[in-house]
Amino acid sequence: MKLQVNPEQRYAKMRAHTATHLLHAELAQIFPTTKQAGSLVDIDLLRFDFYAERLLTQRELQELEITINQHIYEALPVELIETSFTEAQKFGAKAFFEEKYGDEVRIIRIMKGEDPLSVELCGGTHVSNTKEIGAFTILSQEAVASGIKRLTAITGPKVIEKINQEESLLDSLVEQFAIKSYAQIPEKATKMFKEYEEMESKLEGMESQLIHSLLQSAPRRSTVDFTIIIEVPSDTNFKVLGHIAKDIFKDASSILLYSSEGNYLIISDGSISAKSLAHKYQLRGGGSDTAAQGKDPQVTQIS
Ligand SMILES: [Zn+2]
Repeated sequence: MKLQVNPEQRYAKMRAHTATHLLHAELAQIFPTTKQAGSLVDIDLLRFDFYAERLLTQRELQELEITINQHIYEALPVELIETSFTEAQKFGAKAFFEEKYGDEVRIIRIMKGEDPLSVELCGGTHVSNTKEIGAFTILSQEAVASGIKRLTAITGPKVIEKINQEESLLDSLVEQFAIKSYAQIPEKATKMFKEYEEMESKLEGMESQLIHSLLQSAPRRSTVDFTIIIEVPSDTNFKVLGHIAKDIFKDASSILLYSSEGNYLIISDGSISAKSLAHKYQLRGGGSDTAAQGKDPQVTQIS
């Protein structure tokens, strides 16, 4: 039984392979000493690993896409030359010199006018003209190992698929935001974020006002150790409670605030250690001389 090769898939791999050579050639413009560290060619998908000390900038990536697409619509011929390895070196072909090549080698050469744009020793199959690649776009860039970077890119119909996917994503945002066009998305998002922040700070203000009046009106008691003891509702935000209590009860040397669940906060002006007060009543938690907090049902029994 002979293995059937889907001609469409085979052609899609050829597009990706020729695009890999274009990418390699353009990367060599940015990193003159770069070498290929590995490569994967799939159906309109390519992954290219290369030696480079740094990642490409966003601008370099964009320019790379523009240049490679230019080479695609310039419709450059892709030549296959079968020659000897010695002759191939005269062509200046890029090759893995760690690898052994036989006497007969294949060179894939992409010409731009009189000048070769790319010359590589390669046994793979290629399109015969760069225009067949259709389109090229980079999906991602990453560092895979020390000194090795990886670019993943797509070619041909996959580029349109990606555009369509991104368009539906943006369409759903336009619908959700109830705006007219993609161009309004950044402005709308900034506005919503600003509104959210304003609401958040408004809420925080309301919360501290609420805690303020709560602390002022709540029944309070005192013991030998605590100047003021107040039980607060269980949903009280203990994060802001301390600041506000300190602000209201400036003269108190030690304050105990707790909820019925056992959340507690001890604040002290320093004349008596908050931490040692918690320790004295064997309350679970921790803190410093000026503030101690934790959760321990025992706290409700202090009298
Ligand atoms: Zn190749």
